[in-house]
Formats: sequence, structure tokens, C-alpha cells
Amino acid sequence: MTLSIESRGVALVTGGGRGIGAATSRRLAADGWTVCLTYAKDERSAAAVVSDIQVGGGRARAVQADISDEAAVISAFAHADDLGSLTALVANAGIVGPVTRVDAMDARRVRKIFDVNVIGTILCCREAVIRMSRLRGGDGGSIVLISSAASRLGSPGEYVDYAASKGAVDTLGVGLAKEVAGEGIRVNVVRPGIIDTDIHASGGQSDRVQRLGPTLPLGRAGTADEVASAVRWFLADGTYCTGALLDVAGAR
Ligand code: NAP
Repeated sequence: MTLSIESRGVALVTGGGRGIGAATSRRLAADGWTVCLTYAKDERSAAAVVSDIQVGGGRARAVQADISDEAAVISAFAHADDLGSLTALVANAGIVGPVTRVDAMDARRVRKIFDVNVIGTILCCREAVIRMSRLRGGDGGSIVLISSAASRLGSPGEYVDYAASKGAVDTLGVGLAKEVAGEGIRVNVVRPGIIDTDIHASGGQSDRVQRLGPTLPLGRAGTADEVASAVRWFLADGTYCTGALLDVAGAR
């Protein structure tokens, strides 16, 4: 890993211990950000990402924080403050429930999905805006929300509640982008398609990537690194992009 000479400040990546968040954390650290990555339960994976980054000469810290817990979100951002000035938020942490139809869903399941994917994401955006907004004495910054192609496909027969939560994330990105554009903050949304990570197993479909990959227009699932590239582009290069929704979904 080659470190950029330029220091880009601190990036907080939620769910940075595994999957897309881990790839994004590595990518941003290699590009000069100091990364504060959060995880929910898997301390070992998060520590491994931090160790990889440090071995490569980068700076990173892992913080345990369930983003559906407001106090934990506040505490995670306070840890990020210890590392320097927050310039980037990648609101990546997200969950699916076990595959099921809407007519078999109960409120507890749906609340859990929305608590993490929507409320947790909004809380993280709040903490980022508080630090970045020029109206509040900040220096601006950039936020990327990780949504999903599910927001436009609807995920019938799999997890419509998850798809609906990602629809909310899309709307959050569009609205927040307009709200804070004049305060030096850009907000963009990346919508991955089927990406090869553990999330499919957590929904009870450990073969989803192998099964559906060959049926996709590009003939394969995407990689976490391919999503991380898009995130990095928005943060570092997409200086006239805000309120944008980018599909990284291989034409799915
Ligand atoms: P993953 O491999 O399952 O990793 C999820 C990460 O989120 C883990 O680091 C996990 O922490 C963390 N997390 C889960 N619940 C959390 C909570 N309540 N508070 C804080 N962190 C929490 O998932 P992924 O595939 O990389 O997905 C990342 C994002 O991409 C999600 O928003 C997902 O919806 C979106 N996405 C993924 C795909 C795909 O095909 N993979 C497609 C479209 C969108 P622990 O490691 O501690 O468990």
C-alpha cells in the first residue's frame, strides 16, 4: 500500500470491519485519510483491517458502535475527533433480515432493519454535519451513503423491508445534499448491486453470489473493492457531485 503524501483528514467508515466497509477503509487509508472504522460485533475482523492499514503505513482505529444506538454513535464520532478533523463520512453499515415475504414480516424485524439502515444512518449524518458545516465553524466535508440497487428493484420475495429502507437512504441523500450544499458539504449515494460479501449469508443465502452472479448482465457479482473505488471517487474527485445516486451494479 502506498501512502499519499497529502493528509486528507479523518474518514469515519461505519461497518468498516468487513465487506464493502473494510475495502473502503483500506482504500481511503491508502489514499491519505486517517480512518476511524466502526463495527458492531466482529472485533477480530475490525482489528485485522486496522492492522493491515497500519502495516502499510496508514493510520486507523476501530471503534465498537451499534449505529442504531444514539449514544454509541455520539461516542464513535468523539473517538474520530481524537484522530483529527473529520472530512469524510461513509455511512456503510447495513443489515438484511432472513429472506421472507412481506405477509410473513413482523414489526420487530422491520424495526430492526429501519433502526440500523435508516435511523442509524441519519444519526451518523447528523454527527458529521455538526462537525463539517461551515455554519457551525467546520471546514466542509463529504458524505457517501451506501444504499442498494434494491431501492429501485424492491427485492420482491427476498426482503422488501430492506429495499424500502434503502429507498429511504436514497431520499436522505438527495434531501441532505440540498440542505447542506451551501455549508461546504457534499452528500452522494452509492447503490451497489450484488457484491461478494458476507451479507448474503446473513440473510440465509450463502450461495446468492454464486447462484445469481452468472445471471447478471456483466456475468458476475461485483467486488467490495469495486464499490470502494466509487466511494473514494465521490470523496476525493467528484467535487461538482452532490445529491447524486450512482449505481455500482453491473447493469442490474
Ligand atoms: P457485511 O459484509 O455484512 O458487513 C456489514 C458491516 O456492517 C459489518 O462491518 C458489520 O459489523 C456492520 N454492522 C452491521 N450492523 C451494524 C450495526 N447495527 N451498527 C454498526 N455496524 C453494523 O455487509 P456488506 O455487504 O459489506 O454491506 C455494506 C453495505 O452495503 C450495507 O449497507 C448493505 O446494505 C450495502 N449493500 C451491500 C450489497 C451486497 O451485495 N453486499 C448490495 C447492496 C448494498 P460487524 O462486522 O461487527 O458485524
